[in-house]
Amino acid sequence: MFKSIVKGSEASFPWKSFDSILETPSGDNPRQNAWLTLQLRVKLNFCDSKTPAPGRTVQIAGKWHARDLDGYLFPLLDWTPDLTTKFMRGFVKRAEDTWNFQFLLVTPSDYSELDYDSGWRAAMPLKVRPNVLCLLRVAVIGPGGLLDNTPGAGPLRGGPPHRTINVFNLDKSTGAVNLAPGVSPTAATPVRRTFSTFNDGSFRSDDSDYDDSDLFRPRVIDEANKVHHNTIGHEIGHALGQAHIRGLDGDATCALDSATGNDGRCYGADMEGWDIMGGGDRLYLVNAVSWKERIALHTSVPAVKWSASGVTATPPRSLPAAIANTSFAPTTW
Ligand SMILES: [Zn+2]
Repeated sequence: MFKSIVKGSEASFPWKSFDSILETPSGDNPRQNAWLTLQLRVKLNFCDSKTPAPGRTVQIAGKWHARDLDGYLFPLLDWTPDLTTKFMRGFVKRAEDTWNFQFLLVTPSDYSELDYDSGWRAAMPLKVRPNVLCLLRVAVIGPGGLLDNTPGAGPLRGGPPHRTINVFNLDKSTGAVNLAPGVSPTAATPVRRTFSTFNDGSFRSDDSDYDDSDLFRPRVIDEANKVHHNTIGHEIGHALGQAHIRGLDGDATCALDSATGNDGRCYGADMEGWDIMGGGDRLYLVNAVSWKERIALHTSVPAVKWSASGVTATPPRSLPAAIANTSFAPTTW
């Protein structure tokens, strides 16, 4: 038997910050694959003058500011209930649009634990070996608790958050920002930065601190090839244990826990850099790694035996049940 639910605490770094459930079809439809759903529970803290974030919100001369990853101070606006709701709904949609139903894992030819019987009333009943669809559900915990407590937010939506994120509503009329007092400038981070357009590249976010532009003002990375920046999708990738693309492609100095993992080169170059874990919004097969690593815990079949496909319509394999149940049935199929 496979294990149907795996908690993050049962996994090892970096694959331990989400739960998951593996489900097999009832048998009514012999073309139905199995489902591996990764479940993330994210708490969003909407920070402003009334809800400060220690170390991240600073009051200077009576005006509130948010400090970004590089140390720049951005003028901060107060959230309204309408805007927090819009952000939470948009956050779930962007996260799931990016990652849900993008991959299928091909079940190894000698693994039979997912097999199901189908068509028992038909002339030729079948033994079906389903592949595994890779799904993601994100449950958001906002100021009023769970945003959505219906099955739409995921089968494992109840429980403590896997991750808590501060979100800042910035003043988009800002054209220049300064480093916070005491932060030393570098070649890449001068004392003062200016920008003509305020977008998701203005405030430098990280996996625990976003600004509203990360959702509402994505910047274009490559006009001709229609590549956009996707901060929410990128940070959700980190929440699913993924390093920057160079790290996913095997460079240990870009691993998630490496001191140099956030270096510019780790975001990749050219097409590699268009990946969601680079600076773009594309998914390559390497991004199926979170599901491959997790299915190994559900099935005790090593991740390397599961190959990922982008063809989510790949049908299951099947054998006539009359053959599958005999001693001359094939052992790999
Ligand atoms: Zn990153």
